[in-house]
Amino acid sequence: MTMRLVIIGCGTMGTGIAEVAVVAGHTATIIDPDNGARTRARERIENNLRRGIEKGRIKEPLETYLGRLAIESAPPKDSKVHWVIEAAPEQVDLKEAIFQDLDARYGPEVWLASNTSSIAISRIKARASRHPERIGGLHFFNPVPRMALVEIVRSMDTSDAYLAAAKALVISLSKTGIVVPDRPGFLVNRVARPYYLEALRMVEEGVAPFDVVDRIMEGAGFPMGPFRVMDLVGVDVNLSVTQSVFEQTYFDERYRPHPLQEQMVHRGYWGRKRGRGFYRYE
Ligand code: NAD
Repeated sequence: MTMRLVIIGCGTMGTGIAEVAVVAGHTATIIDPDNGARTRARERIENNLRRGIEKGRIKEPLETYLGRLAIESAPPKDSKVHWVIEAAPEQVDLKEAIFQDLDARYGPEVWLASNTSSIAISRIKARASRHPERIGGLHFFNPVPRMALVEIVRSMDTSDAYLAAAKALVISLSKTGIVVPDRPGFLVNRVARPYYLEALRMVEEGVAPFDVVDRIMEGAGFPMGPFRVMDLVGVDVNLSVTQSVFEQTYFDERYRPHPLQEQMVHRGYWGRKRGRGFYRYE
């Protein structure tokens, strides 16, 4: 079944989700208040689709895919929408406000999901009092077109019908969904937190430089070293996720953010998307 998706935020994740949606035959409208972000998003999606066609990974003409894509500054008013997936910055207050608005805007037949990496869905929907049962998490991984896994987050009040619809959507996008409980960091990000944090501590202790840590971990079989992943995810996003898990675990020492993350963010070294993170990019 062809669906209409609205995606909130056209950064790294919003564009990736929109791309896989139009490739799967759905229509996608991405919403972002930032003019520059909307322009960059269109370029990024077009380039990725063009590359996919050149390599034979996807078969339809570029215009067909682009015909299913819209990038706007505000959500559509009509309710002929199947799914709204929020991929705005990892900030509790912002997400709470977005879900309050979405819950008021759309009828109960529209499923709402947050792509949050770490914030409890029950917190995000705290002000969405009309239909909390149609709100859950759909946690895609970066880069979305290449990563098969999606964590489907069941939070307090999330209905069985929601989970069934979420599984159907995930399958339609040719991905694998696993249902996870609404705990800080869900499953993957909780396991991954110490991977980054211990590596940061080791670099500070002088055990090895960051690029050597990466090379050794890659040599040991990890697809990417921790610093390369932080650059891909976004050092800013990674810090927000760490802060959020730290706070939600009542300041469990294991998840304490590292000062180097904060310094990198203040300095503007946000990773690949800014041309510089731990590494430099063209
Ligand atoms: P990003 O910073 O690349 O993009 C966020 C976008 O949201 C920006 O374009 C910004 O202009 C826009 N935005 C800000 N306020 C908005 C609003 N009120 N309405 C609509 N758009 C708004 O962030 P990202 O990396 O795409 O992350 C988005 C979400 O996905 C976060 O919750 C993050 O934790 C999660 N996530 C990120 C990754 C990753 O690897 N980057 C992986 C999985 C999940």
